Amino acid sequence: MKTADIRSTFLEFFRAKDHAIVPSSSLVPASDPTLLFTNSGMVQFKNVFLGSEKLPYARAADVQRCLRAGGKHNDLDQVGYTARHHTFFEMLGNWSFGDYFKREAIAYAWELLTGVFKLPAERLWVTVYQTDDEAYDIWHRQVGVPAERIVRIGDNKGAPYASDNFWQMADTGPCGPCTEIFYDHGPGVAGGPPGSPDEDGDRYIEIWNLVFMQFDRAPDGALSPLPAPCVDTGMGLERLAAVLQHVHSNYEIDLFEHLIRVAGELTGTRDLANKSLRVIADHIRACSFLIVDGVLPSNEGRGYVLRRIIRRALRHGWMLGVRGDFFWKMVAPLVEEMGAAYPELAARQAFVEDALRTEEQRFGETLEHGMRVFDEIAKKAGTIIPGTDAFRLYDTYGFPVDLTADIARERGLSVDMAGFEQAMNEQRERARAAGRFEAKGQMPAELASRLAPTVFLGYEALSAVACKVVG
Ligand code: ATP
Ligand code: MG
Ligand code: MG
Ligand code: MG
Repeated sequence: MKTADIRSTFLEFFRAKDHAIVPSSSLVPASDPTLLFTNSGMVQFKNVFLGSEKLPYARAADVQRCLRAGGKHNDLDQVGYTARHHTFFEMLGNWSFGDYFKREAIAYAWELLTGVFKLPAERLWVTVYQTDDEAYDIWHRQVGVPAERIVRIGDNKGAPYASDNFWQMADTGPCGPCTEIFYDHGPGVAGGPPGSPDEDGDRYIEIWNLVFMQFDRAPDGALSPLPAPCVDTGMGLERLAAVLQHVHSNYEIDLFEHLIRVAGELTGTRDLANKSLRVIADHIRACSFLIVDGVLPSNEGRGYVLRRIIRRALRHGWMLGVRGDFFWKMVAPLVEEMGAAYPELAARQAFVEDALRTEEQRFGETLEHGMRVFDEIAKKAGTIIPGTDAFRLYDTYGFPVDLTADIARERGLSVDMAGFEQAMNEQRERARAAGRFEAKGQMPAELASRLAPTVFLGYEALSAVACKVVG
């Protein structure tokens, strides 16, 4: 089944169950200072859960474009390393706003997966929140999932890639216990079942999360009940497509096949399983949709996340031997793949291409030089790239520190992040002093601007500033 057919089958299923079909919202949350990007389908409904917004319907379903490259949900460093994570992905979701609750939500999910999509029940595992006997009983008694394939799981604070059955959008806001459905890709793939020590593999892949929204979390961590219990579900389209297309990796589905083939042509790479091609195919989606949604490369906030993703993609192209611009040429095949589902992408193709090409040409001038400098630094460094060197790459060659860390990781090295922050702070101090000078009219503006080129506040601060949340 093609990705496009999965989207429409999902929506049709819920339309027939009286759900209003709503369009995807933007990757930039409408007016939510707690969130950098739309990271799940529920974001556009947050105020409905909280009771401050009323909708003319109590049930809804959609396909939401999501980005997890900053803030509480950040999968940027997973891309290229797992079969199941993207920065940009599409989330299939259905909602009940004070209408149905656990029983119906679970029954619908099971009917769709096993009845409509015909997934073999014996390959499905489920998890429930450790104390949620109600969800456990529904799965076991009503649906008939055997106890061996139902796992009780708590909230796994501090272990970001461990299963966690208490879902929250951010550190504050709507949240609640959840139950998740996993698909077993079989013994040919490494990884253990959910909740086991080696669950962070690609064998048992989480496909659908059903959240029972019951609480609003305050900044001090306290939970208060929502006006009405709600259901919020999210299923990764690409993960479901992998299952339905009998491939193991998300990057082998129809939608990616085309993008990866073109990336291979543009970079002269014959091995289409090459990790860099996957990263490039992932990043063209994130970057294009961010630009469609009004973000442009810059040195702060959302624009800096975009710049970082673009530069990571360009560096992968460089690694494959590309020495000119290429990344913007991926927009056309992306439009062919996704323009029908997202007309706004097709409509802004030329604009997206221009924005990417401009950034590409700008970074192209320093990328090659910066890579040579990185090699020299790496030769001298032991296992850790000193913070001052990471800062030099940042300041002189436009290497965001996560790009440097990414290159280092590939070579088994790491970056002294604290040292980088310190170098950054020192520069900020110098800039401030320069600003004072300038106020007195004693420093030429040109010099001051060279001393104060950026407002980047550090990697962690990036999310914290824009979101003021986020753990
Ligand atoms: P994982 O544990 O695999 O990282 P998650 O628990 O963080 O996933 P949820 O927040 O529960 O994911 O999101 C709902 C669904 O969205 C997941 O069950 C999965 O199918 C999909 N999903 C989540 N993150 C990604 C991603 N980075 N790329 C593709 N699909 C994703
Ligand atoms: Mg995750
Ligand atoms: Mg998970
Ligand atoms: Mg989950």
